[in-house]
Amino acid sequence: MNIEQRARRYGLLTFAGLWMAACAFGQSSSTPGQSVAGADNVFADLRKEWASNLRDKNVGACVAEYAPDAEFVQPDGASVRGSAAIGKLYETITATFDSNLVFDSKQLESAGDDAIDSGSYREVLTARATGKRQLYTGGYRTVYHRDKDGHWLIVKMAWIGSGDPIALDLDPHPVVALTFDDLPAAGTLPAGKTRAEIAEMLTGELMANHMAGTYGFVNAKKLEGNPDAEKALHIWVDAGMNIGSHTWSHPGLTSEQVFKPLPVEEYIADVARNEPALAEYGQLRDWKWFRYPFLEEGDTVEKRRAVRKYLFEHGYRIAQVTLDFEDYAWNDAYARCAATKDTVAIDWLRQSYLETATEYIRLGREEQLIAFGHEIPNVMLLHATAFTTLMLPDLLQLLRGQGFSFEGLAQVENDSAYSLDPDAGLKYGGTLPDQFMDSRHLPYPPVKPKPLQQLAHLCQ
Ligand SMILES: [Zn+2]
Repeated sequence: MNIEQRARRYGLLTFAGLWMAACAFGQSSSTPGQSVAGADNVFADLRKEWASNLRDKNVGACVAEYAPDAEFVQPDGASVRGSAAIGKLYETITATFDSNLVFDSKQLESAGDDAIDSGSYREVLTARATGKRQLYTGGYRTVYHRDKDGHWLIVKMAWIGSGDPIALDLDPHPVVALTFDDLPAAGTLPAGKTRAEIAEMLTGELMANHMAGTYGFVNAKKLEGNPDAEKALHIWVDAGMNIGSHTWSHPGLTSEQVFKPLPVEEYIADVARNEPALAEYGQLRDWKWFRYPFLEEGDTVEKRRAVRKYLFEHGYRIAQVTLDFEDYAWNDAYARCAATKDTVAIDWLRQSYLETATEYIRLGREEQLIAFGHEIPNVMLLHATAFTTLMLPDLLQLLRGQGFSFEGLAQVENDSAYSLDPDAGLKYGGTLPDQFMDSRHLPYPPVKPKPLQQLAHLCQ
């Protein structure tokens, strides 16, 4: 079982457009009532609808969310009132920008037919004229009144910006090292295939793209009683690829996971247990690179430090990740659809795989701009599954189309950013930029969610 079901914190896909500069929406002047149980869902839906109407530039539906004499206070303090003026504002905004906004509601107060929803927002505005993207953050406060028909209408919406936006200008010449986890047996094997065949195909594609020395991270437990897996790993190393450690049995290190994490001592023993196989297959190669399963480095700083101490004392370097779109999540669906030869479903899998890769590559790069102020050379996490093997030519084309060039893991991790350590216990596993974002509570740009539900049900 190598499905890495990380609890991700990415929000829903919502778009909207808004508003620069700063504004104050003033201290809460009305008397707050108590929170009303069950009301949260109503207002969550209203927020979602608000954002999707703006994303879709459905100005009529946007204006209909407001009471006829509603007030809209922009971040610069300027205020407009009434349906006509609000409609005009929406027309201007939607003509100028595409925008993608997520509300993070912090408080909902409700009394009778009145309610106040407040919290923070994250928004990426893309200027339609130039394509330039900027991340805005700040607070919002929405005052609702329920009309005689039972509809909650906005009577006042106020925004407060929190300083200058962050420009999300991507480097035209990014660099990436591809890496593959869960060798020598990643994901469900499609019927009629062998691990050795997949290893042949994967290494063949890597060699054809001059990527000898690519790192694959091994769980030696998968070799036990599996001659096909042994053969696959021989094919990998004989083709000139590198191997590193992914622990012996792929345990987690962070609580609140689908898989119960191991205590630190057992986790370290699991790392040690992986070494004989690495030494055997890796021989004189530099196999002292470690990839944390689930990218979990520990939910307490004590755990994190204890495992790092062991790794460093034993000569390992940590194979951090900057780009991850959970490529493994497509493989089980592919195995099912391949069994029934459902070519329509497989076409959808191919398309959604590449769309999700595009979205999360961009996210990973934008996180670096937010966390570090600049992009760093990348490490992409992939898995040596049948489906990622099948998709690799398309993925390489996608990366090349975005200006990426390819380097080895060791070269990439020579960048000084890779010696930085957030040194914090983190609730979720994540990429290196994720870890900095989470430890510093930095705002993630809104991102389209992965189609995990569809993947779970496809070809069932
Ligand atoms: Zn893994």
